[in-house]
Amino acid sequence: MTNNDLIVTSGASLPAFLKWRRLVAVLPGFLALVFSAFLALLSIWSLSPPEIVTNVPPGEFSSARARDYLKAIAVKPHPIGSPAHAEVRDYIFAELVKMGLEPQVQQTTAVKTRTGSSLRAATVQNIVAKLQGTANTRAVLLVAHYDAAPYSLGASDDGAAIASLLETLRALKANAPLKNDVIFLATDGEEIGLLGASAFVQQHPWAKDVGVVLNFEARGDHGPSIMFQTTDGNGWLIDELAENVSRPVANSLSTDIYKLLPNDTDFTVFQQAGMKGLNFAYIEGVGAYHSSLDNMANLDERSLQHHGIYALALARGFGSSNLSGPVSRNEAVYFDLFGRTLIHYSRTTALVLSILVALITVGVIVLGLRRGLLTLSGQAWGFLTLLLSMIGATLLVMLVYWTLAKFAGPRTSFRQGDTWTNQLYLIGFVLLTVAATAIFYSLLRKKVSIDNLATGALIWFLLLLIVSHIYFPGGSYLLAWPLLSALIAWILRFTLPADKLSLTKLCLISTVCAAPGIILISPLIYSTFVAVGISQTSLVVVPVTLLLGLLIINFELMTTNFRWLLPAAATLAAVCFIVVALLQPAYSQRQPRGNELFYVLNADTGKAVWASGAARPDEWTSQFLSKDVTAAPLNDLPWLKGAQFLQQPAPAASLAAPEIKVLDDQVQDQTRRIHLRVSSAREAAMLFIYSDTEISEASVNGQQLPKRQDAPVWGKGEMLVYSAPPREGVELILKTKSEPLIVKVVDRSFEFPANVIVKARPNYIVPAPNSFSDSTIISKSFSLPFTPATVSGNTSH
Ligand SMILES: [Zn+2]
Repeated sequence: MTNNDLIVTSGASLPAFLKWRRLVAVLPGFLALVFSAFLALLSIWSLSPPEIVTNVPPGEFSSARARDYLKAIAVKPHPIGSPAHAEVRDYIFAELVKMGLEPQVQQTTAVKTRTGSSLRAATVQNIVAKLQGTANTRAVLLVAHYDAAPYSLGASDDGAAIASLLETLRALKANAPLKNDVIFLATDGEEIGLLGASAFVQQHPWAKDVGVVLNFEARGDHGPSIMFQTTDGNGWLIDELAENVSRPVANSLSTDIYKLLPNDTDFTVFQQAGMKGLNFAYIEGVGAYHSSLDNMANLDERSLQHHGIYALALARGFGSSNLSGPVSRNEAVYFDLFGRTLIHYSRTTALVLSILVALITVGVIVLGLRRGLLTLSGQAWGFLTLLLSMIGATLLVMLVYWTLAKFAGPRTSFRQGDTWTNQLYLIGFVLLTVAATAIFYSLLRKKVSIDNLATGALIWFLLLLIVSHIYFPGGSYLLAWPLLSALIAWILRFTLPADKLSLTKLCLISTVCAAPGIILISPLIYSTFVAVGISQTSLVVVPVTLLLGLLIINFELMTTNFRWLLPAAATLAAVCFIVVALLQPAYSQRQPRGNELFYVLNADTGKAVWASGAARPDEWTSQFLSKDVTAAPLNDLPWLKGAQFLQQPAPAASLAAPEIKVLDDQVQDQTRRIHLRVSSAREAAMLFIYSDTEISEASVNGQQLPKRQDAPVWGKGEMLVYSAPPREGVELILKTKSEPLIVKVVDRSFEFPANVIVKARPNYIVPAPNSFSDSTIISKSFSLPFTPATVSGNTSH
């Protein structure tokens, strides 16, 4: 030991008491770690959504009243084009009428620029209504979508949002009118490519009047509603959020990160149209997302309440402000504290703060060097030790994860998102991170003084602070405040005489100084786990290690006398959590697995099959799939390019095939122009029009498909997916140089053939989201040779 090292305890001379005193010396470090863990859990728990509200005056938001709306919406799965979808549309319309509003249904064809090789289009039916303002500057647009994914009852996605917006309108109507108009927009066709939102932006006259958009979504069935996305130049939006909302959950890092993700909501459409606004969603319980678990029973009503708190407060806030005036283009850095208040400042302020913090950091290190408590090589070792811990802990967690995934089989339930079981694994992995980090510090402590180890770790905060300003300015708060606070302990250490500040005292001070870091970073670690799921858990290891970097003095206290106590205790606790997780049932009603079974009829051959994308039949699909069923490509769905499906021959149901009617056929300048009407004779919810001919120009119900630079408008092997086709069919005008025109038309309805008896699934199995399950598909091929209906003057053929 050097004479600069801290003294653990003062002179115990009696050997009999030695052990006891050594144990007591461990206690402050242990208690400080427990306190830190408690603070971390408190900061995560404090983000729980607000309590439900029942008996409130008519002018306030009540989740109980919103729940009544939702009860009528989340009855059956209601994807666009299904009969249940029409019922939900009519219900929302009727409720708006009851409120004394004059709703409209904007029914129109919406066409989306392609994603991959498929074009998307639909007949959408947006529901719009307006609350007139007294002196409108520009309107506040409140948006949620009322269509649901095929198996989802849409309680959370996005019925809760629709219900909270209806309740918000009701509450607004109960009070004096606002200055600005408030437009309610229930979009259609969100799940199939944001088509309703596109139709509103492009075709509805009210779109140009919008001053601010508030969009509400869900990607799970509980958790706080998070304001996770803003448009650029968000300073004024954040001002309103901070001023009006009592329970804000938001931070600028998530907005920065979300920009990099491919996820889309209707908000993307409004943003691309140049509108300004905020986007909200609750995302916990992702297992319910787009599945039959998204129902009333699983919904946490508090999340509904949280949506409503934002919607009503912000409708009032934005509804009373001047939305037509110029707004500053400032970007804000912002974060909530315990979900109760929003701290926010401009990026310029953030930069000044960071420069100050950087200068103080350098100053503290210089102070330590001057006092002889720090050395340059010691600082390098301190920096390196945290790096080694990050790498070591990441490798350890990845190894354990990989081993569990490989050998524990379905028990690990890893694919099911942020379930209870996965939360146990998460705690286990966090404890393994503690163990790995403690091991590195125990080892390196022999070589490096504690002052160097602890302050060297803080250099990571400085480094990441600089990096954040380059890549994620919105995340700078996560590093600046924790670093600034942590430095206080070291200013004391390097300015007070050594005998004034024992290690125990320094430990307690540094624990208090670590609190801002724990309060800010812990909820983000949990949100990362919720957002990315258990398979990417190694992502949480680095932030956990970084947090531990604030607590190295506590490590010192715990390891000075019992070097392996902390690593051993953390490992033991980690093993306990992982074992308990392994003991959970693999599948249950709350954590079911998905399977796929659908019926396909080829109307050309009259042959039908039961099909499934699974590797083998399970206890439920085996009612139609035999043990020796084999997999083969499904030629009825040619766009799947040879993907393998189990296929069991089935009786052909007497169902009408999709139809094509040629309305007009001409040739002009060697280009054929053919006018078709494509329809589903059985009024199925979806039409897939797959072309084996290159098409140079195309329009759908009069809307031109967008031209592409290096490819034809509609290439060979590409398709148009049309949802909710009108009964009379979809009108296509196609131009092609090839002859004949070869297309395959496939329709899909969201149920099994009516005459087939299908057993109910066991409660631990649900239809797999994003599959073809539980549908009836009919395919028919068409080869259309040139048959002039009318011949124009200069036809050549
Ligand atoms: Zn949604």
